[in-house]
Amino acid sequence: MLILVTNDDGIDSPGLQALADQLQLMGRVVVVAPDRERSAIGHALTLHAPLRANAVGEDRWAVSGTPTDAVNLGIHGLLKQKPDLVVSGINKGSNMGDDLTYSGTVAAAMEATLMGVPALAISLASESFQYDDFSEAARIACTLAKSVLEHGLPADTFINVNVPAGAPRGIRVTRQGKRVYADAVVQNQDPRGRSYYWIGAGELGFQNLEGTDFHAVNNDFVSVTPLHLDLTNYAAIDRLRQWQFEPMLNDTKDNGAGDDQ
Ligand code: MN
Repeated sequence: MLILVTNDDGIDSPGLQALADQLQLMGRVVVVAPDRERSAIGHALTLHAPLRANAVGEDRWAVSGTPTDAVNLGIHGLLKQKPDLVVSGINKGSNMGDDLTYSGTVAAAMEATLMGVPALAISLASESFQYDDFSEAARIACTLAKSVLEHGLPADTFINVNVPAGAPRGIRVTRQGKRVYADAVVQNQDPRGRSYYWIGAGELGFQNLEGTDFHAVNNDFVSVTPLHLDLTNYAAIDRLRQWQFEPMLNDTKDNGAGDDQ
């Protein structure tokens, strides 16, 4: 059993350590993670700069790139065989609802999925930045990792796990919920008198809809959401087809020809 562990909080984060320690009970764990915090980096891939991978311990690599780089480089370069599983986390802070599109933790699992390796992303949902007991979340990661390996995931699918702070009441399979972002930009002056801005500083809300990741975690359940990479809104396809682009194109052509004459 070979498990690749990564994250977006950086190789020195306690969440990664707790996860790697627990997964070691299942098999060989190789950590390939960013050498510094890269939270909210999304699915960024470094294509125009060299990457370094420093061996910082046995089966432990610090990569000078993003979580996606770490998974890509880990699977294609550093590991001699394809891993059986990629686990990303344990992130400090939740990754639910619309936030997923920003998440480096989730993107690492996406990258593994693109490479045909089963993956799960796991985050500790805690309002308090002081709360950093990852032990329960690490145990849950292990349980879910075993389930993934036992059952196998549907094609092009990975799972996104959010663990509430404290002792969870159970596990719920959920759908991706909906964030309510505060439209706040903080503007201030730097010591040289120039304006600077801070985005994402406002209070975050969410729609408390039953069946969602937010609802589960808010009620002290572990949230397990199956995700896939196809962002197509299938329900909208027919509606867009009714817009009839084809005649519009012909109109443009006709007008163009008209101008020439
Ligand atoms: Mn993070």
